Amino acid sequence: MCVRSCFQSSCLQWAWRTAFLKHIQRRHQGSHRWTHLGGSTYRAVIFDMGGVLIPSPGRVAAEWEVQNRIPSGTILKALMEGGENGPWMRFMRAEITAEGFLREFGRLCSEMSKASVPVDSFFSLLTSERVAKQFPVMTEAITQIRAKGLQTAVLSNNFYLPNQKSFLPLDRKQFDVVVESCVEGICKPDPRIYKLCLERLGLQPSESIFLDDLGPNVKAAASLGIHTIKVNDPETAVKELEALLGFTLRLGVPNTQPVRKTMEIPKDSLKKYLKDLLGIQTTGPLELLQFDHGQSNPTYYIRLANRDLVLRKKPPGTLLPSAHAIEREFRIMKALANAGVPVPNVLDLCEDSSVVGTPFYVMEYCPGLIYKDPSLPGLEPSHRRAIYTAMNTVLCKIHSVDPQAVGLEDYGKQGAYIPRQVRTWVKQYRASETSTIPAMERLIEWLPLHLPHQQRTTLVHGDFRLDNLVFHPEKPEVLAVLDWELSTLGDPLIDVAYSCLAHYLPSSFPVLRGFNDCDLTQLGIPAAEEYFRMYCLQMGLPPTENWNFYMAFSFFRLAAILQGVYWRSLTGQASSAHAEQTGKLTEFVSNLAWDFAVKEGFRVFKEMPFKNPLTRSCHTWARSQSQWYPIGTRSYSSVPEASPAHASRGGLVISPESLSPPVRELYHRLKRFMEQHVYPAEPELQSHQASAARWSPSPLIEDLKEKAKAEGLWNLFLPLEADPEKKYGAGLTNVEYAHLCELMGTSLYAPEIYNCSAPDTGNMELLVRYGTEAQKARWLMPLLEGKARSCFAMTEPQVASSDATNIEASIREEDSFYVINGHKWWITGILDPRCQLCVFMGKTDPHAPRHRQQSVLLVPMDTPGIKIIRPLTVYGLEDAPGGHGEVRFEHVHVPKENMVLGPGRGFEIAQGRLGPGRIHHCMRLIGFSERALALMKARIQPPTAEGREQERGLRRPCFHWSCRVKSRVAFGKPLVEQGTVLADIAQSRVEIEQARLLVLRAAHVMDLAGNKAAALDIAMIKMVAPSMASRVIDRAIQAFGAAGLSSDYPLAQFFTWARALRFADGPDEVHRATVAKLELKHRI
Ligand SMILES: Cc1cc2nc3c(=O)[nH]c(=O)nc-3n(C[C@H](O)[C@H](O)[C@H](O)COP(=O)(O)OP(=O)(O)OC[C@H]3O[C@@H](n4cnc5c(N)ncnc54)[C@H](O)[C@@H]3O)c2cc1C
Repeated sequence: MCVRSCFQSSCLQWAWRTAFLKHIQRRHQGSHRWTHLGGSTYRAVIFDMGGVLIPSPGRVAAEWEVQNRIPSGTILKALMEGGENGPWMRFMRAEITAEGFLREFGRLCSEMSKASVPVDSFFSLLTSERVAKQFPVMTEAITQIRAKGLQTAVLSNNFYLPNQKSFLPLDRKQFDVVVESCVEGICKPDPRIYKLCLERLGLQPSESIFLDDLGPNVKAAASLGIHTIKVNDPETAVKELEALLGFTLRLGVPNTQPVRKTMEIPKDSLKKYLKDLLGIQTTGPLELLQFDHGQSNPTYYIRLANRDLVLRKKPPGTLLPSAHAIEREFRIMKALANAGVPVPNVLDLCEDSSVVGTPFYVMEYCPGLIYKDPSLPGLEPSHRRAIYTAMNTVLCKIHSVDPQAVGLEDYGKQGAYIPRQVRTWVKQYRASETSTIPAMERLIEWLPLHLPHQQRTTLVHGDFRLDNLVFHPEKPEVLAVLDWELSTLGDPLIDVAYSCLAHYLPSSFPVLRGFNDCDLTQLGIPAAEEYFRMYCLQMGLPPTENWNFYMAFSFFRLAAILQGVYWRSLTGQASSAHAEQTGKLTEFVSNLAWDFAVKEGFRVFKEMPFKNPLTRSCHTWARSQSQWYPIGTRSYSSVPEASPAHASRGGLVISPESLSPPVRELYHRLKRFMEQHVYPAEPELQSHQASAARWSPSPLIEDLKEKAKAEGLWNLFLPLEADPEKKYGAGLTNVEYAHLCELMGTSLYAPEIYNCSAPDTGNMELLVRYGTEAQKARWLMPLLEGKARSCFAMTEPQVASSDATNIEASIREEDSFYVINGHKWWITGILDPRCQLCVFMGKTDPHAPRHRQQSVLLVPMDTPGIKIIRPLTVYGLEDAPGGHGEVRFEHVHVPKENMVLGPGRGFEIAQGRLGPGRIHHCMRLIGFSERALALMKARIQPPTAEGREQERGLRRPCFHWSCRVKSRVAFGKPLVEQGTVLADIAQSRVEIEQARLLVLRAAHVMDLAGNKAAALDIAMIKMVAPSMASRVIDRAIQAFGAAGLSSDYPLAQFFTWARALRFADGPDEVHRATVAKLELKHRI
């Protein structure tokens, strides 16, 4: 399989260097001897530590700066600052402690970069085991030097760690002498420390070679008569050292190891085969090593009679169908050799399993560089860019080959590549599945439904990644493309996407190193979008719009591969010792794939053409034809000129069927989703809310959220007016959203599933309208993604909070912070473990004019001093996991940049926060009412087919509004024939219709004239909707009898929330007062 290069070491390594071959030859000639240069004999090699044996602080700093977005060069400049008397040098001489150094150093860095620099984190990285590791090439060299009888020493400028131990991450046993600056109190380039080292070695200066990466240190050594090597990179330094010493310091072929026990192959039969193949007579040994990558097809280095070869074979054991097709690799490389595509020179395919146990092929060993770390550490930004450009160019070359011209026209099927690939990888995944991975299940459903239309069929590599390319050692040119196992004829965009995997993986990802945590601009590496554009440009193609699909599929495929490796590790077939670890990463990668699926779903949705609402002819309520909507479909439309002020600007769309086609489609998609996923989930969600786990989010909700995202049913609430570029949401008008929101209101759980629930919606709107870019990046994005939740803290127990000017919580300035103190309650959502943000309202200036005293602060929920006292209940309901909390804020320090808009703007924000959000509750209340009425009708009418099934025990009883078990008869008459029941139904229908018209009218005026102009309409509907819903639900409860009060039906909860909204959305009286005030004003 294809992850040939899994588990490779992280640093840039010489892969197959021509120079190395010379060493091998020398080694075979047995040229072991003491070396003389200019008549003097070398008796010792003295190594500096940082920059020679381990990475230099400068190099570590450069990478750390990229990752932490610190201006490049800051650390190095601060290290040099002050020269001999600077903090760094004093630290090296142990004149100051680590704490003292970090204090001074931090101050210097902050002054230089004019921002706070977390130097502690740099220091931890510098001294971490991950970074402070001896270069393998140096370990090899030291072993060889000592084997020849020479002494070794380390002469280091180093320091004491906070634990009082000196920083020396080396095995002391490798050195005869260790001289440390912090122990001696002397630093290089002071000549005394070199003399001390020589003295301990018992040698004259001319008898030793000194290696250091810093010019002044090298110069000081040279002036004492020591031979020196200035180290720029360890590999080159070792070459120079070899030249001085006259013997090889390398032990073997890079990236190889002795053949693992389980992977041994018979040398004798192989040697015989090779002798025949190459036509050579040799009695010399066959040298065999195994490349340390090769998850899929074990790969070996062979040296026989001065020929350097590579053998690649199938793994032993039972194999997954169509995997490990080494024959195909051989065929395509042979064909491409003459087509201008750089490939290794293949020599022979041997399908006779008797030679090494399985079929294999042999190719020539290709010298060059393989970049194993895709962030290309140690290179200049322009060099990195050139490498990625060369990679893009070679890919274009592959995709430009005419398969027929090279005899590969039958190399794969023509067309329908992606559907076949999806089927293949689903099959591969299923064949190796060990447990259910939710994201994989979702992708298996999603991918076939979103297949792109394939534009072109070309040769595809199938595993096109940077570390499958051998580069020229001196210029950015690809010398060979390796690992063709997955090549075929297909959609070339798959290769482009696959070569961008690293862009989205973290640098710590153990299988394929990525760089999603690095600043690409600083590195000089093109972003994935640019890489796609570059490709399209080179190929003369229009830009690829649907590349998120290709990314989703590529990650899905990677996840399936990792799962295969894991499965084989369990069954003992995998060729890597780390395979088990690999499998555990499947879930991580599948989640990445799903993120792209979601992005693609949303892109398709956003590209639908939107039209303004149209005026349609008006009909009346019709009896339902729809299976799911038992109460009737509203096949009617508009009241033209809903508001006199906006008569000329379009009519009021009062029916979903009259919405513009894309929004109507969206409405029906939402309806289907409610029917297929939300209503059936209600019993389970309700049980979760009653269980001991209720204060943790329900996994089912999380799963439904992902499904809704993929359907583009996500963040529908943000009004077009607040988000005109549709950057954050679906860009619906208030009227359009009113129809959708009503539908969501029919289930208590639905709003959260579509990321359309309060108080997040109001908070997100606040951030969109008033947040700075930094505030948006920190808070808005996670909220929009549904990864975080939030709360809004205004109400206080000790004051009448319906009047926001009464709020007493204080916000006081203190240095670069605001300090808040206050007591709040009824804070919805604050108990949710996902709640990361509290939008806090308090007073910054109690002496300012009444409406300028309040301010709004963004308070991270993990700030010390936030003390949740208790969850409050609404008629006994806890509303877990978000709940409604009582909470104290005690000396909570919040950075000043968390203030929204500025001090004194809180009242204004609180008003704006509830812009369109001010009527979302009303829209949902219409949904509550419709469902209550539907349940009531179903209760009293003869059973539906579904209800009959339930009666027969075929289905679980559910919350579904059309389900009913038995026709109910009281006092000799079915309920449906009782006059009062009929009157209640009629009354409810009329009240719902009235309220809906008022909601839509308010939304319409907001759309056309703005929120301020709609003040009267908003106040009217807020006055009307909660009471109307309470009455309709109350009637339904009455018709249900005692069952209506139980939690078997959603009625009791609907009632509770409708009642609570008569406070939560502002008390009725306040809205009445507004209506009256405006009415009187209008009259006058
Ligand atoms: C379920 C629920 C969730 C909530 N979520 C949040 C939240 O997330 N964040 C938050 O900050 N708050 C929240 N609240 C609190 C809610 O916003 C307040 O309850 C509301 O603003 C009223 O404030 P109060 O309770 O202090 O009542 P008060 O202001 O004390 O009012 C009490 C009563 O006085 C009368 N009254 C008030 N004003 C007038 C007037 N102008 N004319 C005549 N009579 C009047 C009314 O009868 C009113 O009901 C929530 C409340 C509930 C029930």
